[in-house]
Amino acid sequence: MRQRLAKILATLGPASRAPSMMRLLHDVGVDAFRLNFSHGSHEDHAACVKAIREIEKETGNPITIVADMQGPKLRCGTFEQDEIELRYGETIKITQGSDNGSDGHVIMPHPELMEACKAGTVLKFDDGKLMVTVQSNDGQAITAKVDVPGMLSNRKGINVINAVLPMSAMTDKDRKDMAFALTQDVDFIALSFVQTAQDVLDARAIIGDKAGIIVKIEKPSAVEDLDSILISADAAMVARGDLGVELPLEQVPIVQRQIIRKCRALGKPVIVATHMLESMIDAPTPTRAEASDVATAIYQGADAVMLSAETAVGRHPATAVAIMDRIMQAAENDPEFWEYFRRIQLPHKATPEDAISQSISGIAQTLQAKAVLGYTSTGSTVQRISRERPPCRIIGLTPNPKTARRLTLSWGVQSVVTGDPISFDAMLDDIQTVSREKAGLKTGDVVMISAGIPFGRPGTTDTLKIATLD
Ligand code: ATP
Ligand code: MG
Ligand code: MG
Repeated sequence: MRQRLAKILATLGPASRAPSMMRLLHDVGVDAFRLNFSHGSHEDHAACVKAIREIEKETGNPITIVADMQGPKLRCGTFEQDEIELRYGETIKITQGSDNGSDGHVIMPHPELMEACKAGTVLKFDDGKLMVTVQSNDGQAITAKVDVPGMLSNRKGINVINAVLPMSAMTDKDRKDMAFALTQDVDFIALSFVQTAQDVLDARAIIGDKAGIIVKIEKPSAVEDLDSILISADAAMVARGDLGVELPLEQVPIVQRQIIRKCRALGKPVIVATHMLESMIDAPTPTRAEASDVATAIYQGADAVMLSAETAVGRHPATAVAIMDRIMQAAENDPEFWEYFRRIQLPHKATPEDAISQSISGIAQTLQAKAVLGYTSTGSTVQRISRERPPCRIIGLTPNPKTARRLTLSWGVQSVVTGDPISFDAMLDDIQTVSREKAGLKTGDVVMISAGIPFGRPGTTDTLKIATLD
């Protein structure tokens, strides 16, 4: 039973894909796992899915799985020694092919880059950490001078500054990966480099209702078209790695706040990602600035925060999760944390569902209610309740395991798979048990129950019952 409200999404990779490590990560705080299809084979990902579903069985906790598509991202290839050093001022060679690169020579699989580069073009590697300027390109080989040095390792991303590359939003690899991910029953597909709402609709045509869609906001064009993109998606990610390379970096904090605010208004989960505890890839403790960054996302109302390389390839995956958990809980226990939520005006739809969700915060305060238990089939009502950020526990009750897993990503929601009750009295009996077992409540505690009568029909939430545990 977790006390924490916002969620932790952790990326799996070589440092974390042993089933015992995944179990440890879940025990110390991971609510959702990210499979990054930019790295690893289908077999690797399938093994991770199997292990996660095993952990669900062992613990009884629904866990969200996010399959993150690479999207039209350029990446360098691999190196003989897995990495090379780019030294300040040195001239390197870039060619196209599938061989391993070597000292001073980067080989990448993309013909598009050879077409796009001319003298003066700036290339950034690894979320902008390294930078080179192209000196010449004869169509066979590019020469470039290193302006910002560092280590460049296998398959790091490449951003071409101020050039439009002739690549489609969904690559052939993405289509194959997506089809594979759907056979694995993942809960969300994350789409990289979304630029328009049409990109989301194109993916939806393939995904249908088999998985939710998370749009990764990492392009200036997506920021310009934010409203229509968010409306067509199920959740969003502030993908600060590429966003901070494609946009001036001082825009990143502003865009982060905007995306969180808009997702909150729409009642769609929003994840803040990349560099959150970056120094913990090597170090056993984060910097103070990183701690502050995680707390800021929590104060701003993010549903989830994400770990990338920290858990995928870092030296201290479990410590990174445990520290993130501590930072989040500390922020959530700050009395001013709630002040922030109360200041925000949410738009309400004229529906019984919104009326009920809206009243829950007030009732929780007036009666000091400990929990709201929401019966839901699609998850929609519980997401509307979560959007309100009520000062009590939120339990989503659903007969649908898919819904339970998806809801796990939403702020404050703990979901439980349970059958629809056969009558109102049976519901009250069920609530007594669930409240004790899943929320640790006791006799005399007040709870709220939202439901649709008759039970089991989607989209009918129309009842709010207040009950006291006996
Ligand atoms: P994205 O743009 O989708 O975030 P990324 O390359 O930045 O892709 P992350 O998942 O953010 O990938 O992980 C950060 C780093 O961790 C990567 O650059 C890569 O070096 C490493 N990494 C992640 N997963 C793997 C893996 N399965 N195998 C090898 N390295 C990995
Ligand atoms: Mg990344
Ligand atoms: Mg990315």
